[in-house]
Amino acid sequence: MSDAVARLGEVSDAIAAAEAKAGRKAGSVTLVAVSKTHDADAIRPLILAGHHVFGENRVQEAQGKWPALKSRFAGLELRLIGPLQSNKAAAAVALFDVIETVDRDKIAREIAKEMNKQGRTTRLYVQVNTGIEPQKAGIEPREAVAFVTRCRDIHGLEIVGLMCIPPFDENPGPHFALLEKLAREAGVKELSMGMSDDYETAIAFGATSVRVGSANFGARG
Ligand SMILES: *Cc1c(COP(=O)(O)O)cnc(C)c1O
Repeated sequence: MSDAVARLGEVSDAIAAAEAKAGRKAGSVTLVAVSKTHDADAIRPLILAGHHVFGENRVQEAQGKWPALKSRFAGLELRLIGPLQSNKAAAAVALFDVIETVDRDKIAREIAKEMNKQGRTTRLYVQVNTGIEPQKAGIEPREAVAFVTRCRDIHGLEIVGLMCIPPFDENPGPHFALLEKLAREAGVKELSMGMSDDYETAIAFGATSVRVGSANFGARG
């Protein structure tokens, strides 16, 4: 068994424990294995062990390894968790099953255009910059609910949830609580929040998916 498979098992167990502790149903949290910087040889053992949900943060890097994996293994779900430029919207819609980083009208418009053109439906999350950090992608919290509505009414896109990456030097709890509140106000169900260091906290605050990289794969190469 590869180290990564063993670690993925440990993270899955910790998720199950956090679900139970929070009084949530077993299996209500999806583990997104973040495979950025890891090549197909490192990813394959996880797929063979039965894991099928993966996250990548760069379209171009994902294009280099996932088309072959997707044609070899049925039932994989690939999620884009990094910022999306509009010139990559076509490639992103073609490759990803979920895009978690919709954060402005321009990209919403491009995604809608590409989904129509390609006849593909990609599940969509809006990324919220809960810490209002200038260097970070995501829509500001006070604009988030109106943006979800615009995605639906103007761009014709169904948004299923919200995603956030709290400031790395802050207690993440208040950020997770804010995301949960905004999702309720926007009327969306899915909450993508929590990474290697804080996924158990995120589950306590209602995360429906956690994005875990280094705790699965070890330090990034
Ligand atoms: C890399 C990354 C993760 C995973 O981070 P770890 O700390 O390695 O678990 C989660 N979310 C996003 C958006 C990332 O870019």
